[in-house]
Amino acid sequence: MLQAQLEDGRLILLAAHRKEQIHDFKKQRFLCPACRKSVIIRAGKKLIPHFAHEQIHDCELNRTGESLYHMRGKLQLFRWLTKQGYTVKLEQCLKDSARRPDLLLRTAGGKELAIEYQCAAISDEELLRRNEAYERNGIVPIWILGGNRLKRTSTYMLDLPKREQRFLTQYKQNMQLQMLYYCSDSKTFCNVQHILLTGKKQTVGQFFFRPLPNLLFPHLFQVLPQNVEETHKVWQSIQARAVARPLTYAPASIKRWVMRLYDAGFLLHDFPLSILQPVEAQYQMSVPPYIWQTDLWLEQLNVLPVMGSVSLNRLKYVCRKWEAATRPFAVPISTHPAESYMQRLCQLGWFGQINADTFVKKKALSLF
Ligand SMILES: [Zn+2]
Repeated sequence: MLQAQLEDGRLILLAAHRKEQIHDFKKQRFLCPACRKSVIIRAGKKLIPHFAHEQIHDCELNRTGESLYHMRGKLQLFRWLTKQGYTVKLEQCLKDSARRPDLLLRTAGGKELAIEYQCAAISDEELLRRNEAYERNGIVPIWILGGNRLKRTSTYMLDLPKREQRFLTQYKQNMQLQMLYYCSDSKTFCNVQHILLTGKKQTVGQFFFRPLPNLLFPHLFQVLPQNVEETHKVWQSIQARAVARPLTYAPASIKRWVMRLYDAGFLLHDFPLSILQPVEAQYQMSVPPYIWQTDLWLEQLNVLPVMGSVSLNRLKYVCRKWEAATRPFAVPISTHPAESYMQRLCQLGWFGQINADTFVKKKALSLF
């Protein structure tokens, strides 16, 4: 922890003091603000001066398993925000829970934001508990992941396993999904935006690396320019590879689907790749786009004659069996994937939308 209390109750942020002063502090007794047990000063040439419990025991401030990487970042962000004039509290306890967000920020408008700089793994239960505590207190959580968790694999690709997808965030409705990272070694933020999920950990996105000194807090929530053509191309190529060998390491649901297609007289690669389209709300689905989108065609769109119409409710119903059990917590309810998909088909000239619930087929796909 970066701060501890003197016996008279004063909270001391060790890193804000000079070396000599820290040396003097060593003669005094400090208490953990959470459990009131004794803590000792840790300071050295390479260390950020901080406090640690004298003995290992169960304490909220122990459980976080705080690394130096985390502590350094927390301090950097604290100073960065303070310099911009925000009222920021470090490791401050919430009113009705033992939760201590890394940083608690109050905006000029009186809104409170909890900034969690998360560098270590966190369980679903713990994540839920924290978010609920914030919600109860009317606080908006902002999760910034440690740069140590960013697994970029190419210009437009990163690995985003399911447990990382929990942190996908949409700050406002109609705003894009993003992941936010901060590296305390390089003092650099990375916004990953224009994210296209593929149904696997391979994920398409655009990376925006920006050094801390050049940034202001609101910049973290800006929409940055998108390279639509490139990101879509990369997404299509991932789908194409998946379709070419769907049964390698595939889960049972996918194997079953491929067999069903086969029974209906189709091979997965009979479907033209152009019918596969990225939709933002893919996180609502438990299977990759090439499964639920080919399913929509098989069940509804293919049998439809040209000029025939289909209702959105019907398509949503077909999709029900593919819906994911869990969703990212920081994403408001958005457009249903089937609706976004149909809108893409309209843009491509295959369908037309007559009203909010009805789509009309304009062209037949030659392959069927
Ligand atoms: Zn403690």
